[in-house]
Amino acid sequence: MESPGFGARRRSVAVSVEGVIVGGGHPIVVQSMTNTDTADADATALQVARLAHAGSELVRITVNTEAAAAAVPEIVRKVRGLGAAVPIVGDFHYNGHKLLSDYPEAARALAKYRINPGNVGPGRHHDDHFSAIVRVAIENGKPVRIGVNWGSLDQAVLAELMDANGRRAEPRDARDVMIEAMVESAIRSAELAEATGLAHDRIVLSAKVSGVRDLIDVYRRLAARCDYPLHLGLTEAGMGMKGIVASSAGLSLLLAEGIGDTIRVSITPEPGGDRTEEVAVAQQVLQSLGIRSFMPQVSSCPGCGRTTSVYFQELARDVQTYLRDQMPLWRERHPGVEELRVAVMGCVVNGPGESKHADVGISLPGTFEDPVAPVFIDGALDRTLRGDHIAEEFKAILDSYVERRFPAVGAAR
Ligand code: SF4
Repeated sequence: MESPGFGARRRSVAVSVEGVIVGGGHPIVVQSMTNTDTADADATALQVARLAHAGSELVRITVNTEAAAAAVPEIVRKVRGLGAAVPIVGDFHYNGHKLLSDYPEAARALAKYRINPGNVGPGRHHDDHFSAIVRVAIENGKPVRIGVNWGSLDQAVLAELMDANGRRAEPRDARDVMIEAMVESAIRSAELAEATGLAHDRIVLSAKVSGVRDLIDVYRRLAARCDYPLHLGLTEAGMGMKGIVASSAGLSLLLAEGIGDTIRVSITPEPGGDRTEEVAVAQQVLQSLGIRSFMPQVSSCPGCGRTTSVYFQELARDVQTYLRDQMPLWRERHPGVEELRVAVMGCVVNGPGESKHADVGISLPGTFEDPVAPVFIDGALDRTLRGDHIAEEFKAILDSYVERRFPAVGAAR
């Protein structure tokens, strides 16, 4: 459930993508994108299914070549065969108008098309190619995302605004004009799509940049100019911690202002790394902000000189892993379990207090404390654990708490 008190969600129209609703005040949708060769239908279908299993509610695949377009229907079939119903979105650049008309089965199989107005074609071809994609969307009843990216910004729009800026008595700085050009490109493209016949509630907009402050500025302006649902994301966010922190910072500021209807975290995975990390980060951003819940949350202190053994860190990790491993089953059997809050604390200083704030908390003994671990349930001391099996006993307590607090589907409450 979304927290009704968090920020004031900007009003936007609702766009249905095969039943997944983006905008209109619906829960903010988590999405992701594959990094397989789309022409490899097996690898792509498997990754789509994995991303969906991790919680991605829309998955985008690049459709960049004839082989990729030809593989799309097979990918969709295979994904369904793997038990995933997730809508699959096609990402088009340069040749989308041609691929969508040459491969009508792909056009039918995809749930939505992403068009980059900076990459549809130069000069006089620009509007024709853009409108050709929109017409295919109309014929097939598909929504589109008009996705502007500063790495491929429509140069005609930028040049026009730069010229106009140059004629001003007091010209604005180049960054400001670039941001305006991104907003203008998105809005003008949406107007062209509607003039071509696409309904207002079949359009999602995005305008991605790689700097957090630029992201804030461009989306604030975009949000003020239209009521299309907005897809948020920092593009080219980077690897590892840098990408995660930068994405979290940018998305959080906008989400706190009620801006954003769907998000993607575009982090570069380690070679051979797990693509689903971007889904986990997106979910954690929403959950940390109290906007949506996906997983039980574990609060644990950082540890300090009072925790001289690694036992406390091991227990925090074990509990986190245990909760994650239980979730596929618990999610089905125990609706609402994603709201569970657990605390694993390192000593008496903040341990009992933080544990009382959680649904279930344990305060381990710090240096020089008695070797006992009080467990708190719903704010009250429940029992004290000691000995060599604290981890197993604490997990058993979590199991019974989940059974009691989130009764199994069909069981009497
Ligand atoms: S709760 Fe105790 S162990 Fe954890 S950081 Fe605070 S003082 Fe250190």
